Amino acid sequence: MTLSPAPYPEGVTEAAPFTADELEQIRAQFPSLRRDLYGRPLVYLDSAATAQKPNRVIEAEAAFYREANAAVHRGAHTLAGEATELYEDARATVARFLAVDDDEVIFTSNATEGLNLIAYAIGNASLGQGGAAAAPYALSAGDEIVVTELEHHANLIPWQELAARTGATLRYIPVDDHGAIDVDAATGVIGARTRILAVSHVSNVTGAHSPLEQLVPLARAVGALVVLDACQSAPHLALHPRELDVDVAVFSGHKLYGPTGIGVLYGRRELLNALPPFLFGGSMITTVTMERAEYLPAPQRFEPGTPRIAQAIGLAEAIRFVTELGIDRIAASEHAIGEQLLRGLAEVPGIRVFGASIDAPRVALASVVVEGVHAHDAGQVLDNLGIAARVGHHCAQPLHRRLGATASLRISAGVHTTTDEIDQAIAAIAGVREFFGVTEATNR
Ligand code: PMP
Repeated sequence: MTLSPAPYPEGVTEAAPFTADELEQIRAQFPSLRRDLYGRPLVYLDSAATAQKPNRVIEAEAAFYREANAAVHRGAHTLAGEATELYEDARATVARFLAVDDDEVIFTSNATEGLNLIAYAIGNASLGQGGAAAAPYALSAGDEIVVTELEHHANLIPWQELAARTGATLRYIPVDDHGAIDVDAATGVIGARTRILAVSHVSNVTGAHSPLEQLVPLARAVGALVVLDACQSAPHLALHPRELDVDVAVFSGHKLYGPTGIGVLYGRRELLNALPPFLFGGSMITTVTMERAEYLPAPQRFEPGTPRIAQAIGLAEAIRFVTELGIDRIAASEHAIGEQLLRGLAEVPGIRVFGASIDAPRVALASVVVEGVHAHDAGQVLDNLGIAARVGHHCAQPLHRRLGATASLRISAGVHTTTDEIDQAIAAIAGVREFFGVTEATNR
């Protein structure tokens, strides 16, 4: 296995990793990290699935319920005013984090809903909803939607469904044998018919950054919309959709140390206000008759019903947590952890590390196949040692199929991960084959 040079993520240069004392202070903020499992301290290496929560996030959500719980936007009473202020302040916090305007931030339940929202809104435009403003975004037969072969199912299936609803064709940019997006092939896939490019910022299987600097200009050159799945980048590096020149970016709060039940969709203002809504109901309208309704502009247009108020407030606290630590310092620390992880795994015989040789910046995440052992069994060995890792296809079946595996074991770090924890994980993975009595001979 060759090791990638693992350069710093874009925009991160000289920031210092956390010192041992700082790391200790960070860890002290996560109550779940005090748990023991099977007589050992929990080693949580599943942050890519969902992050643990610092006390201040748990407390922010609880404090809302304790002190200011009310439905937002509609009430004349004090609590409703306070709740509205907290909710809109959460939106402003997200907007600052992304360096975008407040009305370009839509709260969703998670990234999956964000991706469905945009795909359905475009589908509704394709049915003629939204009138002349939405018409430029309507799809029909002959139009093409482009994804990549490494997408999480959340950034694949909504586009399959949109293609089915509109008669458009879904095409994909293949990955190479290592799981890297094939940029040369992209030039043959993205073309005059491409109307949408939907791509991940960072793969949830290889941890590698996608080559956005090559893909986005290809899409721009043909006037296609660019939708970014930023689930695996938002917790680890500065996410600035405008600098990346994307029209839409989505992520989930729960992977960013925030609560479950909250996600974010950033959309360019003109796009959001031109598209018809996805879900319909209260809080999103100007005028309603028995026959029809007029809709508010974004963000209300896309937030019908009582929104996820406590969750948005919790997410804002998580963003303050990350921002105060410094996203550049988080990236620098996780970069060191990621390098240690890859270098350590490179020394382990009898395993395959997906995408280890991809020459791109990456986050501290690695998916491995232990030869001769099913990923679930390998995960069990780690669990018995108190190490929480992910097993399965990580909602990326096509990528696993392309890499010749049905499942893998994924290690993913968070802001609290220590070098000792990575050493423990590497040692545990190194011990899996012996645990199951797998020899070279059984492999062949
Ligand atoms: N995209 C990627 C790259 C992901 O890793 C995930 C979560 N595993 C999602 C989308 C979906 O996120 P959620 O389940 O929070 O909607």
